[in-house]
Amino acid sequence: MPELPEVETIANGVNRRVRGETILSAWFSSYPQPFKTPPDEMASALPGMKIAQVRRVGKHIVMDLESRAGERRQWLVHLGMTGQLLVSAADVPRRPHTHAVLSLASGRELRFVDARRFGRLALLDIPFIGPGREPLTISKADFAALFRGRKLSIKAALLNQSLLHGVGNIYADESLFRAGIRPTRVAGRLTRERLDRLHGALRTVLKAAIRAGGSSVSDYVDADGVAGFFQVQHRVYMRTGEPCLVCGTPIRRTVLAGRGTHYCPQCQR
Ligand SMILES: [Zn+2]
Repeated sequence: MPELPEVETIANGVNRRVRGETILSAWFSSYPQPFKTPPDEMASALPGMKIAQVRRVGKHIVMDLESRAGERRQWLVHLGMTGQLLVSAADVPRRPHTHAVLSLASGRELRFVDARRFGRLALLDIPFIGPGREPLTISKADFAALFRGRKLSIKAALLNQSLLHGVGNIYADESLFRAGIRPTRVAGRLTRERLDRLHGALRTVLKAAIRAGGSSVSDYVDADGVAGFFQVQHRVYMRTGEPCLVCGTPIRRTVLAGRGTHYCPQCQR
């Protein structure tokens, strides 16, 4: 599943390509799964809207739309496991599993392709802010306050989208390693100093991954349909049994919050 850095990369790529475009028409497939808003409603509301901006909120892609009359709406895209947003010339054949096509004034099309149909599309009237706090902009004090009194593990807390949104399994493991915190530690018992270190580590790993263009190991493509992002070197994620890059101790794997969790038993206490 694409994580925050991948979604940010895709949102930025789509923004560069379609910002300022006007939607001429909208087509949706007959499958019911991807649509949180009825396709008929989207097909009648989207034409004529101008794409003011495309940006990431949590793990959602938000398209800010403006009508000529100044009416504002948002088109929300969640990529799910395999969803892709592609900007294509209209004469490029549509791929199998294309569920939405917005025809743009420039003659190009914005296409939503999703083989497994876990992605979601919705049209909103009010600004989407997501369920939790934004890990790249939250202050140290607010970050620490999120975990106060929480009895769950810090790994589970990082993955809890109602606390922080957009942090997935890879960056939870990688940031806990960089902060030297054992993933099993009870979130509410971590000292402020350790939480400050985690706040910094999380921002560092997310920003490095965004700079590298996302580092998901799953198969998704960017807005041009080009596969193959740079791979940021993971220090613990999926390195079970391999030596820790800092101390040489074999990386261990356990399961927390239902997710494979990777850590160095020496460096993370
Ligand atoms: Zn180590």
